[in-house]
Amino acid sequence: MTGKSITNLKGVGEKRAILFEKLGVDTIDALLRFYPRDYEDFSNATTADFVPADTVCTIKATITSSFKEHFIRKGMVLYKGKAESGGVIIQITIFNNKFAAANLKVGEKYILRGKLSEGFTVRNMSSPEIIPAKNAYIRPIYRLTEGLPAYFVEKCVRQALSTCGDIRDPLPLWVREKYNLCDLKFAIRNIHFPGSMKDMQTARNRLVFEELLVLSMGMSLMRHKIRARTGMQISNDFSCEFASTLPFQLTNAQKRSISECIADMKKSVPMNRLIQGDVGSGKTAVAAGVMYTAAKNGLQSALMVPTEILAEQHYRSLNNLLKKSGIKTALLTGSLKLKEKKEIHARLKSGEIDVVIGTHALISETVEFKNLGLVITDEQHRFGVEQRSILASKGNHPHIMVMSATPIPRTLALMIYGDLDISVLDEVPAGRQKIETYAVGSDKRQRVYNYIKKHIDSGRQGYIVCPLVEENDSPLAAVEKYAENLQRGPFKSYRVGLIHGKIKSAQKDAVMQAFAHGDIDLLVSTTVIEVGVDVPNAAIIVIENAERFGLSQLHQLRGRVGRGQYKSTCILISDAQNKEAVSRLSVMCKESDGFKIADEDLKLRGPGDFFGNRQHGLPELKIADLMTDMSVLNKAQACAKDILYKDPMLKSEEFSSLCDIVKNIIPAQTN
Ligand code: ADP
Ligand code: MG
Repeated sequence: MTGKSITNLKGVGEKRAILFEKLGVDTIDALLRFYPRDYEDFSNATTADFVPADTVCTIKATITSSFKEHFIRKGMVLYKGKAESGGVIIQITIFNNKFAAANLKVGEKYILRGKLSEGFTVRNMSSPEIIPAKNAYIRPIYRLTEGLPAYFVEKCVRQALSTCGDIRDPLPLWVREKYNLCDLKFAIRNIHFPGSMKDMQTARNRLVFEELLVLSMGMSLMRHKIRARTGMQISNDFSCEFASTLPFQLTNAQKRSISECIADMKKSVPMNRLIQGDVGSGKTAVAAGVMYTAAKNGLQSALMVPTEILAEQHYRSLNNLLKKSGIKTALLTGSLKLKEKKEIHARLKSGEIDVVIGTHALISETVEFKNLGLVITDEQHRFGVEQRSILASKGNHPHIMVMSATPIPRTLALMIYGDLDISVLDEVPAGRQKIETYAVGSDKRQRVYNYIKKHIDSGRQGYIVCPLVEENDSPLAAVEKYAENLQRGPFKSYRVGLIHGKIKSAQKDAVMQAFAHGDIDLLVSTTVIEVGVDVPNAAIIVIENAERFGLSQLHQLRGRVGRGQYKSTCILISDAQNKEAVSRLSVMCKESDGFKIADEDLKLRGPGDFFGNRQHGLPELKIADLMTDMSVLNKAQACAKDILYKDPMLKSEEFSSLCDIVKNIIPAQTN
């Protein structure tokens, strides 16, 4: 293939090259790998006699009359003519396109695509797409950008295909044979201009395989580099001492997970472990136990979380827990004053701080550690591969631990987190009761409010979550107003607090702290409380417009209650009628197991949304779909293993072009 600039193509100058660049295409090579997002199949046209009334169809027809101009009004010209298809006469109307009409030749065959409607004596087709029958191919549909029309992109791809010469296949013959894959030349040609949809599938299969193979190999090379280095070994286990400082008994699952981590850290390669546990299973205590042990062995730990609220909360609870044992903790977030940041930076560098908890601020260039031995990320899938490796690169190949409440299939976990070990927290702390969940219409709102008051009167606290709804006002104004109305009206004699993402950090902290201390009875909030917020005395959560949230998000939100010994309630308010929303809410009422809910989520929303806006830290995929191409993924992973077993560093000639492609996707830090 060729890394030549796209400007080598006829018709592509500087201007168009800039437009192509917008699509991520800079070289001829990249253009060949610019796969269509869909196809229009003109290849299997039928005749009009087979087409029912008012359906969109693709038919083959012969033009039987020339097209006549009709002026309707200023700026509106119609061209009408006739065609014949399967014995049926079709009246064709073309709007405002003299050129298209004049080009049609009487007696010639064309492919027409459009809606064929029933007329009195003849059938009609309005502004169909028309191509000469000899061009009746499966037409690729590309992602476009303004200034680059479809026909032009197609023309460039054709040109690239005819000039690219021999395409060197990065997959050696034995791989293609073993996994039944076509060669690259066939694949590239047929992904753009397939002879049939079956050929397109063959091509796609091969390209998906290649993409997932490259991804698997990239991930495992990265890992290999991490694993090959010696980590920061520890020699002593302090988990019993840690357990004795806790106000509660660790669950067996927590004890087992902590032991597994400590066993990992005693080895000469760094730990790489995922702690997977449903909301409320007590992942933070596991992290604390492992950090405690690290500190007692003289190593620094960093815990990175996705939001400031969470960082502050973890800091408060860990600081409480660890300071008794002489372990120094610190909080590092973006909103600290410069002076405070500098001070923490200095204390991290000198080694005075044992445990630092923070947001992305932790990966800032100016952060240095004396001996960072343990890196923990919470809700890991929100961090990218790159961010993770930047933090790790601040230590001498530290131990890595990630915590996640998202249940994902193991193959995917391997892909996203690397070749990691998994500890599962399959047990909730003793004394937890099932959270009662109800879905009600907004006509019951007053009763819901009364129910909240009953909880507050008995000493509990509650949340009301509002989605950000764009109304006339700004969306935040809507939440602010909601809280204000509650405080003035139904909750006059109670303390109502408000929190959302745009509140200044110091104030956010103050509100969360007041809520944690019980100085606020009812907290009105946006989804900023979704991840990890932990106030065990909160026993009721009400979610307004619950239909606006996905299942997994509802489960996360509900997980804010039922975190202590109190019987808790979740009320979903919604007037939604549509079937999907109704079934989502009913799943919530029936099901409390996070794994089962994730399953339902997949069924209801389909795989596309599962990863949705969540960044899972993988490089962007051009053609593969991690959920629907799962079986190819399994094969590609097996193949990656095969190849790396044969040639761990991809040094041999047969893998040289594969090696280039793989290196391209590995983040620079670990390269
Ligand atoms: P998550 O897994 O959702 O992150 P947390 O770590 O925030 O859960 O723990 C949820 C709550 O349960 C916290 O209030 C925590 O103090 C408490 N907790 C954790 N482990 C135990 C335990 N073994 N017994 C009782 N309470 C526990
Ligand atoms: Mg948590």
